[in-house]
Amino acid sequence: MSADEHEAKKQIKWVIVRLEKHFGEPVWPGRRDFLETLIGTILSQNTNDKNSEAAYRKLRASYKDWPAIRTSPTARIAAAIRSAGLANQKAERIKKILGWMYRTWGTFDLNFLCSMDPRQVSELFQQQKGIGVKTISVTLMFACGHDVFPVDTHVHRLCKRLGLVPAGTSAEKTFALMASRVPRGKGYSFHVNLIRLGRQICQARKPSCLQCPLRKKCPSAPTL
Ligand code: SF4
Repeated sequence: MSADEHEAKKQIKWVIVRLEKHFGEPVWPGRRDFLETLIGTILSQNTNDKNSEAAYRKLRASYKDWPAIRTSPTARIAAAIRSAGLANQKAERIKKILGWMYRTWGTFDLNFLCSMDPRQVSELFQQQKGIGVKTISVTLMFACGHDVFPVDTHVHRLCKRLGLVPAGTSAEKTFALMASRVPRGKGYSFHVNLIRLGRQICQARKPSCLQCPLRKKCPSAPTL
């Protein structure tokens, strides 16, 4: 292991410990339905939780079940998920993904995927338009409890701000770098606590560094 890699791992470990001291250690609450989590995550792309959750509720309330969504006209799906933004694009992708699932497995009960190798599931789903490494990693972590470290917009921003990856590193590259650096068993805790940090303390435009448990070693903290 190079000296830089060693330092990066040490810094990540320190951040995890400090965040757990500050926010507590989040514990995965247990299985969620695989397909519901995946579709919810697709709807959450490029929008906030409030809008994507409203879209998901309306989508489920507008149809009897997943087969009805699969055979629905795309425009009707788009109307149901309007609040999530990019509704036409997301509707088209959701319909195509449901079609692919049905042709592949003949069912929408996909919870058996949680027993498969997560790397294999990840690669398989990333072949579908609209499912990137972030979307499938979020699903594998929240639905199945797999020890992965999803890198969404907030986590990506914070990894750069904390100097855990070099400035300018893409989200995909950040995911790849962090995958080998986050200690085993800490993916969920670290992900959830970074989201808390981003919401409560280190907001994009106005970080509250004086209240931050990480200010001692954060390269972006102002020197006082
Ligand atoms: S010290 Fe400031 S910039 Fe660094 S993580 Fe904390 S709030 Fe964000």
